[in-house]
Amino acid sequence: MQIETQLLVVGAGPFGLALAACARRAGVACLVAGRTMSFWTEHMPRGMFLRSGRDWHLDTAGVHTIDAFLAARGIAAAEATPLPRDLYIEYVEWFRRANGIEPIPGMIARLERTADGEARFLATTEHGDTILRRGIDCLVISVGALADPALLARLRSAAHDGNSHILLPAGAIGGIDAIAAMRVAGLTSVRYRSRKPPVAWRGSSAERLVDLDKLTRRTVLYQGTAGEAAMLYPQNANVAAAVALAGLGFDATEVELVADPDAPGNIHEIEAEGVAGRLAIQLQGKASRTNPKTSALAALSVARALLNRHATIVI
Ligand SMILES: Cc1cc2nc3c(=O)[nH]c(=O)nc-3n(C[C@H](O)[C@H](O)[C@H](O)COP(=O)(O)OP(=O)(O)OC[C@H]3O[C@@H](n4cnc5c(N)ncnc54)[C@H](O)[C@@H]3O)c2cc1C
Repeated sequence: MQIETQLLVVGAGPFGLALAACARRAGVACLVAGRTMSFWTEHMPRGMFLRSGRDWHLDTAGVHTIDAFLAARGIAAAEATPLPRDLYIEYVEWFRRANGIEPIPGMIARLERTADGEARFLATTEHGDTILRRGIDCLVISVGALADPALLARLRSAAHDGNSHILLPAGAIGGIDAIAAMRVAGLTSVRYRSRKPPVAWRGSSAERLVDLDKLTRRTVLYQGTAGEAAMLYPQNANVAAAVALAGLGFDATEVELVADPDAPGNIHEIEAEGVAGRLAIQLQGKASRTNPKTSALAALSVARALLNRHATIVI
C-alpha cells in the first residue's frame, strides 16, 4: 500500500509529535512513522526526573502545554516539579491524542528519492517479520502472499520469537471456521472454485490464455494446487490461500479458477470432507465498487477482524 503525504516525520518521540502538530496547524499534510515514545518507555530509566521544567512543553501554539495537561488531570504543579519521567510520557500521550496524531507503527527501513526527478522521497516501512518479532500482531490482508513457503516460514518464526500473532481474515469467503475446525479431527479433501465475470480477471495471467472480451461461455483458467494458483493469480487468489491455510495446506488443496460471462457476481464454492462430516458452500459476493477483482466482503472481513480485537464477545 502506498500513502502520499507532504511531510513524513520519522520517529514518534516528543519532538517528532510536536513537529507533526505544528505542521498540521500550518495546513501541511503530515504523517508520523514509528512507535510512540518508544525511546522514552524503553530506554529512559524508571524513576528518573526530567532535567527540563514544566515550561518545556511541545505546543508551539501554547495550548496543549504541560500546565494545561496537569490542570486537566487535577495534578498540582508541586507534584510535577521536577517532572517525573512517567508523568512526562503521559503528557506526551495526552498531547498526541489532543492533536489527533496516529503514527504508523512500523519502522522506516529505507528512504529513497523517487525516479520522477521531482523533489520527492519514497519511504519503505519495515517488513512484517521485524514488526512481529517486536511483539506486534500483524493482520495480513493479501493472504495469497503466504503461498511463498520461505515468507510463511520467516513470518511464523518471527511471530514465535516475538510472542505475537499473524492474523488472517477470511476475506471474500465464508466457512473458514468450519474447515479449520474439521481439520482438528482430520480432513480428507478440500476443493475451492472461484467463478467470476471476465472483467474480474483483467490484468491477470488469464489474459495470456483467453481473450476476456470475447468470452461467451464458462472457461476454466486454472486447475491445480492452491499454492500455484496463489502465485499465478496473486490479485485473485487470496481466498484460495485462506482456504489452504485453514485446511489441508497449499499442496493438497485443489483449486479451479473460472471466467464466466454469466456469473452473477464473484462466486466462491468450497467442498470439504473429513472425519467430522462434509461441507459444501457457495457464496455469491458482490464485487467491490472500486476494484472488480475483489469482493466487497473482503473489506468487511477486515473490519470484522479489527472490531474483534476490542470486542468483549469475539465471534
Ligand atoms: C538520560 C536522558 C535524559 C534526558 N532528559 C531530557 C529532559 O529533561 N528534557 C528534554 O527535553 N530532553 C531530555 N533528553 C533528550 C531527549 O531524548 C529528547 O529531548 C527527546 O526525546 C527528543 O525527542 P525526539 O522526538 O527528537 O527523539 P526521540 O525521543 O529519541 O524519538 C525518536 C524516535 O524515533 C524512532 N526512530 C528512529 N529511527 C526510526 C525509523 N527508521 N523509523 C521509525 N522510527 C524511528 C526511535 O525509535 C524513537 O522512538 C534526555 C535524554 C536522555 C538520554
